[in-house]
Amino acid sequence: MATTPPNRSWMTEDLRAFRELAQDFCAKELAPHQDRWAEQKQIDRQLWHKAGEVGLLCLSIPEQYGGGGGTFAHEAVLYEEQARSGDSGWGVSVHNGIVAHYLNSYGNDEQKQRWLPKMASGELVGAVAMTEPGTGSDLQNVQTRAVREGDEYVINGAKTFITNGAQAGLVVVVAKTDPAKGAEGISLICVETDTPGFRRGRVLDKVGLHAQDTSELFFDDLRVPVANLLGGPEGRGTEGLGFVQLMQQLPQERLLIAITAVAAMDAAVAETVRYTKERSAFGREIFKFQNTKFELAECATEAEVSRAYLDQCIERHLRGELDVPGAAMAKWWTTERANRVLDRCLQLFGGYGYMAEYPIARMWTDARVSKIFGGTNEIMKEIISRTL
Ligand SMILES: Cc1cc2nc3c(=O)[nH]c(=O)nc-3n(C[C@H](O)[C@H](O)[C@H](O)COP(=O)(O)OP(=O)(O)OC[C@H]3O[C@@H](n4cnc5c(N)ncnc54)[C@H](O)[C@@H]3O)c2cc1C
Repeated sequence: MATTPPNRSWMTEDLRAFRELAQDFCAKELAPHQDRWAEQKQIDRQLWHKAGEVGLLCLSIPEQYGGGGGTFAHEAVLYEEQARSGDSGWGVSVHNGIVAHYLNSYGNDEQKQRWLPKMASGELVGAVAMTEPGTGSDLQNVQTRAVREGDEYVINGAKTFITNGAQAGLVVVVAKTDPAKGAEGISLICVETDTPGFRRGRVLDKVGLHAQDTSELFFDDLRVPVANLLGGPEGRGTEGLGFVQLMQQLPQERLLIAITAVAAMDAAVAETVRYTKERSAFGREIFKFQNTKFELAECATEAEVSRAYLDQCIERHLRGELDVPGAAMAKWWTTERANRVLDRCLQLFGGYGYMAEYPIARMWTDARVSKIFGGTNEIMKEIISRTL
């Protein structure tokens, strides 16, 4: 849809070659299926296997666990190409960029050997379940309980809005192991979805992201061995550390959203330039009206300026230096800009911009959630303001 972005400070020869692979995969395996996936409210399960075969899963996980042995830069390239292809259904950034990294960062060797190779091949799809019907932003208030009974945890609770919820084989569940405590009572427990007591609810009807299988999940007296405590179970050392583990991964999770937001701006500007040069009114190309040129000049500038800060954040993250406020700034800024840019681009399509079959309409509805998930933009401003 859009052209490949210009060379950037963190790009290398290896990454350029990888971009071609990712671009080719997205063009062949994602772009042609958008309507069908939107109708069935999820991607084809087989896509995960195809992606595993060409090495697009667990890109930044060490090779010893079946991963690609790459860096976050490989992840960034894949999510840019996904967004540019017009796909928003494939929950690969949650699988690769979040779930695999919880396992890689906190899992013990047995846990990594057990789950990461299957995630890299596409045999297992990963999801992370934090949000509940009664609590999202206020994560410390989760009500899902994991009660220890002998060598098992008995889990009861309900989660909602879970990306990859319908296809996940492994869910990292945020649960209270000690309800008397706030943040220190939270633990992360890995749940295989073929465990009795695990139940999937419906795939939710959303205003956008129609091809994404955002679902409810339920745990009814679900029993898992204590060995499923992320990083456990020796002495249950990681019990109660769930909140810290979640916080440490936040910069990467928010950067993923920022990457997609900037790529969406690029795609929208390219698509709108193309359309306005094809369509005429009053005997001239729409593009030739001063308003169109000025709108697009501003939108292109907003995308470029956003990318400059995004690139700075990617570099900082590659050096292990991106902090929580810096990532919150990236998430807030790029998603606010993306929503504005997409709205202005849509306007230049006139009535066609409001038709669901037009990519610009889909981009516009898809982008709205970026101000909500991964921590709402109000929470981002809370975080930023604490540094002032
Ligand atoms: C498509 C989609 C995919 C998602 N994927 C996942 C997933 O894979 N896993 C997962 O766990 N969750 C997922 N989520 C959930 C998402 O992270 C939450 O919706 C989000 O964190 C907000 O929580 P909430 O919906 O409960 O809103 P609430 O927390 O109820 O917030 C409501 C409003 O109050 C505001 N607010 C709350 N607290 C404050 C405060 N302290 N200061 C100022 N304003 C405040 C919020 O900003 C918001 O405007 C997904 C959501 C969507 C829509």
